[in-house]
Amino acid sequence: MNRFSYARPTTVAEALSEVRGEAVRFLAGGTNLVDLMREEVERPVKLVDINRLPLRDIEETEGGGLKIGALVPNSDLAWDARIESRYPLLSAALLAGASPQLRNAATTGGNLLQRTRCYYFYDVATACNKRDPGSGCQAIGGLTRLHAILGASEHCIATHPSDMCVALQALDARVHVEGPEGARAIAFQDFHRLPGDRPQDDTTLRPGELVTAIELPAERFDMHYTYLKLRDRQSYAFALVSVAAALRMEDDVIGEVRLALGGVAHKPWRNREAEALLVGKAPSADAYAEVADAILAEARGQGTNDFKIPLARRAILRALDQAANANPQSQIEKRIA
Ligand SMILES: Cc1cc2nc3c(=O)[nH]c(=O)nc-3n(C[C@H](O)[C@H](O)[C@H](O)COP(=O)(O)OP(=O)(O)OC[C@H]3O[C@@H](n4cnc5c(N)ncnc54)[C@H](O)[C@@H]3O)c2cc1C
Ligand code: SF4
Repeated sequence: MNRFSYARPTTVAEALSEVRGEAVRFLAGGTNLVDLMREEVERPVKLVDINRLPLRDIEETEGGGLKIGALVPNSDLAWDARIESRYPLLSAALLAGASPQLRNAATTGGNLLQRTRCYYFYDVATACNKRDPGSGCQAIGGLTRLHAILGASEHCIATHPSDMCVALQALDARVHVEGPEGARAIAFQDFHRLPGDRPQDDTTLRPGELVTAIELPAERFDMHYTYLKLRDRQSYAFALVSVAAALRMEDDVIGEVRLALGGVAHKPWRNREAEALLVGKAPSADAYAEVADAILAEARGQGTNDFKIPLARRAILRALDQAANANPQSQIEKRIA
C-alpha cells in the first residue's frame, strides 16, 4: 500500500473542502476501497473518512417516498421496517449481496460506487483500460464469466457488480449529491455509465462530488415483485445474471412494468421500450418471452460468457412469473424457487 494522508471531517462542507486535487477518495465502509488499495489498483494520496458525517438517517419525503442517507449500512437498510414493508424489492436485493458481516460495514453510497469485479481490473500485471486508460483490455479474448453481454465497447466489457443498484434502477430512484458546484439530484438511469471510450469513468459524478442520499419515489411495488439472483454459489457470490422485476396489476392485466438486469452490463440494465410490450396484457409465458427477446436482441457474448444470454432469457421469464404471482424469490431460505 502506498502512503496517504487521512482526514476525518464532521460536516459535508468540510468533507468537500478536503477533496481538492487528484487521487483523493472518500472512505465509507472501506469494504471495496481498502481491498483495491491493498492490491494497488487504487493509490490515493489522501483518504477523507466520511463516517462522522450526519448521513445515517432514513427520512420520509413530502411526496410519500423515503430519503436514505449515504452512510446507512446495507444491513440496516435491508431490515428497516419501512423498506421491508414498502420497498421489499430493495430489501431482497440487499440481502442477496455479499455476507451479513460485509453488509454491516458496507454503506448505501459505497455500494453505489463499488467498482467492477473484472478479474483483470484487480490484477495490476494485466492491461486494463479502466485501471490504466489506454493500456488495452485483457478481458477481451480472456476469461469472461462475469462480463457483459449488453452495452459493452471495444474498450471495456466489465459489468457493474451491485445488487442494490439493480433494485434502485427498477424503482426509479434518484441520487442526491453535493459538490464544489453545489447540490444536484441525478436520475438513477443516468448515474452509472456505459463504458464507451472512457471506461475509467464508472458514473456521471463530477470531480469532488459526494453522494449524500438516495431518494425512493412513492411507488412501492410491494405486492408483485421479485429479485432473482443467479450465481455460482447460493451465497457470497456476485451475480452471473440478476433480475429485479416489479409489476402493477390492474384487475387481470399488467398496468405497469419495471424490469432491471444485473450482471449483464456496465450499469444496471433497463429497456423501457421492452417493458412497454407487457402493458395491457394478461400475464403469460408468451408475453414474458416477447419482452425477454426484445431485451436480449442486441446481446453479444464474449465466448466464455455466451451462456449468459440464454440464462438471462430464462431468468427474465422466471422473474416475471414470480412477480405476477406475488411469489417473490426468498433471499433468506436460499431455496431455488
Ligand atoms: C467478498 C465480497 C463479496 C461481495 N459480494 C457482493 C454481492 O454479492 N453483491 C453486491 O452488491 N456487493 C457485494 N460486495 C461489495 C460490497 O457490497 C461493497 O464493497 C460495498 O457495498 C461498498 O460499500 P462501502 O461503504 O464499504 O464502500 P467503500 O469501500 O468505502 O467505498 C467504495 C467506493 O465508493 C466511494 N464512496 C463511498 N461512499 C461515497 C459517497 N458517499 N460519495 C461518493 N463516493 C463514495 C469510495 O471513495 C470508493 O471509491 C462484496 C464485497 C466483498 C468484499
Ligand atoms: S473489461 Fe474493463 S475492467 Fe476488465 S480488463 Fe477490460 S477494461 Fe479492464
